[in-house]
Amino acid sequence: MSDDPDIAERKMRFLFQLRQRGVTDPRVLEAMERIDRGEFVRGHFEDRAYEDTPLPIPCGQTISQPSVVGLMTQALEVGPRDKVLEIGTGSGYQAAILSLLCRRVYTVDRHRRLVTEAEVIFRHFGLSNITAMVADGSRGSPEQAPFDRIMVTAAAEDPPGPLLAQLKIGGIMVVPVGQSDAVQTLIRVRRGENGFDYDELRQVRFVPLVEGLGQT
Ligand code: SAH
Repeated sequence: MSDDPDIAERKMRFLFQLRQRGVTDPRVLEAMERIDRGEFVRGHFEDRAYEDTPLPIPCGQTISQPSVVGLMTQALEVGPRDKVLEIGTGSGYQAAILSLLCRRVYTVDRHRRLVTEAEVIFRHFGLSNITAMVADGSRGSPEQAPFDRIMVTAAAEDPPGPLLAQLKIGGIMVVPVGQSDAVQTLIRVRRGENGFDYDELRQVRFVPLVEGLGQT
């Protein structure tokens, strides 16, 4: 916690708001208390890091709304031995939280700049179990597959086939689906012995999953 009483107060309100909005898993709350969102938001919007709102980050992308990060993390039911793939590194905030809850996180973004900047913050926090990669995440990460858990933090029209294929039996994937500009539905996919089960969790709004690499 910072010594600044104003920041300390904002951080307390931040956690209170997460609980109020349904983030109740104690392990997720503890991880979100430890990973300071203020480190992932730069410049203009730094002041608003502890508000429950998405904020702009470089490359025209956004850091997700904290309560949505909490609810998605909770829905993923991550265990300490899990190997997790995240598509859409963005600021690195979600990957940092996941890294406290599992064995290893592979996180992928199509923008090199975002990956490079996130790696600096991971080092700052001493998070050594995250591997960040520049790649088109709609293909997943065939070299590291299969995964116990997959979280997609950009919206696809349907759950991408390669990601479904890279999920272990017994694995869980959380992914927002729907048209890019409209409201999307967050769905949870469970892979069983005989196929996939889907359940709809809530309405969300994410930037779109775009194929190919970014210019920067
Ligand atoms: N999880 C992030 C927020 C992600 S915003 C955080 O905690 O801050 C969505 C991200 O998905 C953006 O950074 C965007 O560049 C990335 N993205 C979109 N399409 C992608 C693709 N095909 N492969 C990899 N990353 C992609």
